Amino acid sequence: MRADSRGFKVLAETPETATCLVCADDYPEMELDRMFWCTGCMRRARERAGWWGWLGGIGIGAALALYIALGIRPSADLLGAWFGVVAMGTWLGSKACREIAFGVIRYRTAAEDAALPESKPSS
Ligand SMILES: [Zn+2]
Repeated sequence: MRADSRGFKVLAETPETATCLVCADDYPEMELDRMFWCTGCMRRARERAGWWGWLGGIGIGAALALYIALGIRPSADLLGAWFGVVAMGTWLGSKACREIAFGVIRYRTAAEDAALPESKPSS
């Protein structure tokens, strides 16, 4: 940051660029998050985490359905309510698994980057 003639600090006309740690493209520093990920890489990571989330959610829902069918043995009158429980378990499980998968993707990418010091920005 430089100062004008009166000593006030002014923003640079061209924002400083930084390198995204995932795709290694240069972006204005403002567009990268605190882990130096660009918005495109964040979106792709969220999409990947979303797939893993649904996979985990369906697994949790299937396990819940199995437990209800074999362990609780609901009567036919309450089948609709139990179906709702399984649907809710699947939905909540997918949300939880998505967040876990997103954290793992972020952590693993950061670990890969730390193992390759030459890929870090020189500044
Ligand atoms: Zn990127």
